[in-house]
Amino acid sequence: SALVIAVDGPSGSGKSSASRGVARELGLRYLDTGAMYRAMTWWMLHHGVDVHDSEAVAARAADPGIVSGTDPDGPTIHVDGADVSGPIREQEVTAAVSAVSAVPEVRRRLVALQREIIGEGGIVVEGRDIGSVVAPDAPVKVYLTASAEARALRRTAELAGTTVEAQQAAMRQRDTLDSTRKTDPLSMAAGAVELDTTALDLDEVIASVLRLVKE
Ligand code: C5P
Repeated sequence: SALVIAVDGPSGSGKSSASRGVARELGLRYLDTGAMYRAMTWWMLHHGVDVHDSEAVAARAADPGIVSGTDPDGPTIHVDGADVSGPIREQEVTAAVSAVSAVPEVRRRLVALQREIIGEGGIVVEGRDIGSVVAPDAPVKVYLTASAEARALRRTAELAGTTVEAQQAAMRQRDTLDSTRKTDPLSMAAGAVELDTTALDLDEVIASVLRLVKE
């Protein structure tokens, strides 16, 4: 059967760059499930849904048409035909995504979409619950971690107009929201290998994951 590699971990752990690099090396597709939760959140905000009203979010969870491109060299995400790759990274979406992704109807719908995409062939899938919920049978599962400082530094380098301190505070808040909600996706899956990326550069992280694939 097709090779599925699950890459989970908190924000700033280096998941996206590592996952794309591994997919490129192995000629696999790549799926960013965080982008799907962000796209769902963007749609709710765009349609005036109160993101803190879980019943309102649940009632609309089936409505957005979300299409994920899986090319590791240029991942794309469209909602109702519009390219939202830029807007989903904006602060307003980032601040609301934990609340929206805590709604069970949202998770059920997106997990189903993710499984459809995974079913089409070999792929590297990054997220929070890939090894535990979305693809528990994946033959390779990695859980990336990094120190809070390293994660905040990486996010700061990616974003303009922010400081390491502000990033660290925002990330701590999002991680707390992500891990204390009832539908807790941020935990290590059975069979996952933990990889601390604090002291590693991107090539070293990719090489470590590739070694796991060969084993
Ligand atoms: O990976 P990224 O930081 O873009 O994910 C954005 C948010 O989407 C996370 O903070 C989390 O709330 C949610 N998420 C999730 N399950 C996933 C991927 C992301 O709940 N598999």
